[in-house]
Amino acid sequence: MALDAREEIVSQIIVRTLIIVMLMAGLVATFVWIAARKSDELSIERQQHVIATVLEQNFRAIAHDQEAATVWDDSVRELSAPVLDATWLDENLGVWFYTYYGHDEVFIVDPRDRVVYAMREGRRHDAGTYARSVGSVATPLIAELRNKMRSGVKIPKASSVLSPGAIDLGTFHGHPAIISVKPIVSDTGEIVQKPGTEYFHVSIRYLDGSFVADLARRYQLTDGHFASAPPEDENRSRVALRTHRGTLIGYFIWAPFRPGTAMLGEVAPALVISLLLVLGTIVWLLRRISRSALQLSAAKSQAVHLANHDPLTGLANRALFDRQLSQELAQLGVAGKTMALLYIDLDHFKNVNDHLGHPTGDLLICALARVLSEVAPSDLVARLGGDEFAIIHIADNAAKSGERLARNIQKILARPIDLGHGEVLIGASIGLAVAPADGTDPVELVRKADIALYDAKHRGRRRHSFFTEPMGERIRERSEIERELREAMRTGAGLDVLYQPFFAAQGGDLLGAEALIRWTHPIRGSIPPETFIPIAEECGLIETLNEWVLEQACFAAARWPAGIVAVNLSAVQLRNVTLAERIYAILKRTRLSPSRLELEITETSFIESSEKCRSNLGWLRDIGVRIALDDFGTGYSSFKHLRGFEIDRIKIDQSFVATIQLGQSGSPVIRAIIDLARLSGLTTTAEGVETEQQRLFLTSIGCDVLQGFLLAEPMTAGDAETRFLAALDQ
Ligand code: C2E
Ligand code: MG
Ligand code: MG
Repeated sequence: MALDAREEIVSQIIVRTLIIVMLMAGLVATFVWIAARKSDELSIERQQHVIATVLEQNFRAIAHDQEAATVWDDSVRELSAPVLDATWLDENLGVWFYTYYGHDEVFIVDPRDRVVYAMREGRRHDAGTYARSVGSVATPLIAELRNKMRSGVKIPKASSVLSPGAIDLGTFHGHPAIISVKPIVSDTGEIVQKPGTEYFHVSIRYLDGSFVADLARRYQLTDGHFASAPPEDENRSRVALRTHRGTLIGYFIWAPFRPGTAMLGEVAPALVISLLLVLGTIVWLLRRISRSALQLSAAKSQAVHLANHDPLTGLANRALFDRQLSQELAQLGVAGKTMALLYIDLDHFKNVNDHLGHPTGDLLICALARVLSEVAPSDLVARLGGDEFAIIHIADNAAKSGERLARNIQKILARPIDLGHGEVLIGASIGLAVAPADGTDPVELVRKADIALYDAKHRGRRRHSFFTEPMGERIRERSEIERELREAMRTGAGLDVLYQPFFAAQGGDLLGAEALIRWTHPIRGSIPPETFIPIAEECGLIETLNEWVLEQACFAAARWPAGIVAVNLSAVQLRNVTLAERIYAILKRTRLSPSRLELEITETSFIESSEKCRSNLGWLRDIGVRIALDDFGTGYSSFKHLRGFEIDRIKIDQSFVATIQLGQSGSPVIRAIIDLARLSGLTTTAEGVETEQQRLFLTSIGCDVLQGFLLAEPMTAGDAETRFLAALDQ
């Protein structure tokens, strides 16, 4: 998944988490708010209850205040005097109640319920005038208490109340008020009064006056006041005040203490700050987690990329190639497409590594990777290892477009590749297998592309081959030959070395013989070296095989009285820097003089061998071993290339010799080769001389040595020995 998509998912997770956290915070806030409301409601209910009780107690407190002067012998005595002492009454039962207890009105009635003393708001009033305004509230209370007194009500001793009383609420002189009536009785009991003949002390306390203000102050009630109508502000609490008969006279109103709201007010800022901190922390944590998750995911992607790609070129590796190939092949039928599988291998890449070093080899591999990616931008290009690449090419007609692809690759590689610090010219061989024509099994298709590649290499490299069934046959045969050759080399059965003599063109002296390997298979019969030598070269058997031939040849030549033995060397051997050492060891072992050994090397393998190998061969040459260039004319055929190389002889390939026909003047090429060789100080051998005409022509143009069926066919070591002995005798 792309990094952007992952970042988007991570930010979605952050946003969702934040929404959930906010919802939870909202839920908690709602619960807190509901709890605060509930707590407020409970508190208000409780306050109402407490205030109702407090009001009740305070109403009683008025009666209690009265007892201070109404349960007192002096008052009884004073009131029973024929003439009332108004000043005394002011000081003890009237004005004093205003100044000391805050009672707003006081009046005293005699046993016949006539007002004998009146005080209002600290000032004595005329009793007669006052009596007219006592009204309907006090009168029933006075009557009620008078009845109680007449019936001789007794106060229990343990009671906190000293005398009976009557108390009620009502509107008095336009004020809502508490009205309390108390009898004036003896405190000592020494003055006996006939029940129902007592004076009564009536105290009035206005509810809309100082009473309520005092109450509010004492109980610390905010905005406590009295009102005749219920409060309009719903934040105010109230207690309804009713008379005993149930008549509503007004309300005690106050601003109730709301603990929930207060608590909210106290903790809300802290809660909001905490919530913000929690949110901040969550965001921070999520960002950190997401960053590490992204880093982890990026590391994972990198690991996945590394597991699927070649670190040098960045191309798909074999694991990804195998997977992709299987997938594409499975979908091929569904999509109605065809596939060309291209196997690409650089020609002689090993030489680049050996001659120019591995860093240059790596640069070349990277350059080829670029070339392939550019040529096939929409195909999967993979590096399967070393210098081996593959392309999975899908198209409507993949065989055709795949071939075009192969040609394009060859075309680009026909020019030298710039490696930054120099140019390299390298070819590539390409094998193609096509699905579904060649099958849709991935293993089978890969095998067929590989066979086609092998074919392209065998047909001379720098080309491409499509897989064909006969190719498969050849490969099968080849692998059988390989197996059987191993077996033959293990037992030695069927392997032999024949010797084909060569002669001086002038005079016809026997100069030496070339060792030629023979393999006679028990079933297949004689297998030509052109068939099994390349197989031995490919499967790594050639060095052992050729060293065996060399040793046989040296042993054989050591028995000849004279003459040179020529031994063919393979290109593979020439890449081994220990070659000279090993040849020298064989010479020592067989006791053959180095001057009697000639090594035949093909022109191409000689030119492509490393500097070190060539200098080793130069050392062999210094001790007398001769070097001949075999099959001259089939490779570079360039004297320019040979300049500076330490060689002694050129063997003109038999394909040129065969052009010398009866009656013709002979190949001008041979003539040119011989002239140039002579100019370069090299001797020449013509191989494959089959006719007298060829012999005469070659001799006439100055060829030094002749070899061919005309003169001698390859023969056994024994026959060769006889031949040499016979030559000695002549
Ligand atoms: P070559 O080195 O050019 O050897 C000469 C080949 O030409 C031999 O074939 C020989 O039998 C054949 N020949 C000789 N005179 C005539 C002629 O007049 N007419 C025709 N048509 N052919 C003639 P052979 O033995 O089949 O070997 C073929 C090639 O196999 C050799 O070509 C050589 O390149 C390779 N070879 C043979 N023996 C060995 C060996 O021991 N080691 C290696 N590395 N290569 C070997
Ligand atoms: Mg040869
Ligand atoms: Mg030859």
